[in-house]
Amino acid sequence: MDESGPGNWGVIGHGGAVRLLSGAMNAGRLAHAYLITGAEQVGRKTLALALARAVSCEAEFQRPCGSCRQCDRIARGIHADVRVIDRHTPIRGTAGGEASDEGQDERRARFSIEHIREMQRDATLNAFEGPRQVFILDGAETLRFQDGPATEAANALLKTLEEPPGDVLLVLIAPSRAAVPDTVASRCQIIDLRPVPAAEIASGLVSLRGASLEDAERVSRLADGRPGRAIDLVEDPAARGRHQQTVTRVLETVVASLEARFRYARDLSGAYRKDKAAVEAELDVWTSVWRDVLLARHGVAQGVSNTDWMDTIEAIAGQVTPDTIVGVISATRQTSGALISNAAPQLAFEVMMLALPTMEAGSVPLQPAGASPSSGDPAVESPAG
Ligand SMILES: [Zn+2]
Repeated sequence: MDESGPGNWGVIGHGGAVRLLSGAMNAGRLAHAYLITGAEQVGRKTLALALARAVSCEAEFQRPCGSCRQCDRIARGIHADVRVIDRHTPIRGTAGGEASDEGQDERRARFSIEHIREMQRDATLNAFEGPRQVFILDGAETLRFQDGPATEAANALLKTLEEPPGDVLLVLIAPSRAAVPDTVASRCQIIDLRPVPAAEIASGLVSLRGASLEDAERVSRLADGRPGRAIDLVEDPAARGRHQQTVTRVLETVVASLEARFRYARDLSGAYRKDKAAVEAELDVWTSVWRDVLLARHGVAQGVSNTDWMDTIEAIAGQVTPDTIVGVISATRQTSGALISNAAPQLAFEVMMLALPTMEAGSVPLQPAGASPSSGDPAVESPAG
């Protein structure tokens, strides 16, 4: 047995990141601050918490063991020395400042300097129940203002990054390095998490979450490289229902009139203001549907994500050229990119609608495989539910 092996990290995919962290830990060379970057639900927080278990674990080898008291309490979110802080975390309030109320926490758009000050006060104390304190700052992109400059909280954090207390491990989470103030990112070791291949997601769902092979293979193709989304789809019936509605809405828009497509763009832009992540997920569905159309156009049924909709996808594929399909996929990607750089959402969605080919509506069936006729037309609700 390899005694210095990576242990039981419980992470789906990201083998390289796990080996890197595990190797650094076993060699006693962990950095004091990491910045884990990657897409929503790709596994950033899962990896951060696994690292917290690894450094706290009581086992001699193969840490984290997943079963000692330290591993268990961190997994249950009740370990006193491992804290996940995001912009909505309540501010306790001490002599220096006011405690926050719930509404305030909900509305807070960025980390407050009080979050950092509280963390720094805690960091001056020794670890309480484990060997070291771990602070996970989720949403480090909110350490800067939308137009770029670093916030007061970011500047306060620099002090901890420059003179870290000995037993403190800091883990920041953000979509990308560029989203975080450079002064902060340059003081962290960066671990960039890429989308996880569908086969790895499927095997992780089976081995770590006890999913059936059939379910695992089906949802892993819908997850767009994000294990967290696959877990939702396999374990949360509501998430599955929302996904079905999204696919229905996307396919209906594909065969709709220009007017209806523009209405969809307007609705999507309204939804984007309320729930960015849901609309980003909807754009991923657009990409996956058109990737499937491209596969069907080339007669490759294997690898299709939205297998329930094969009849619809093949009907669409029969009416469009590969160039058109590639054009729609690239327009969707450009829309995602435009939103990240703060373009006006409605305009971005309208531009995407203009890339869609005109379809013969009646010629495309809009019913997933296995849907019973008695359930009627799939209800189309406002985008992103
Ligand atoms: Zn353990």
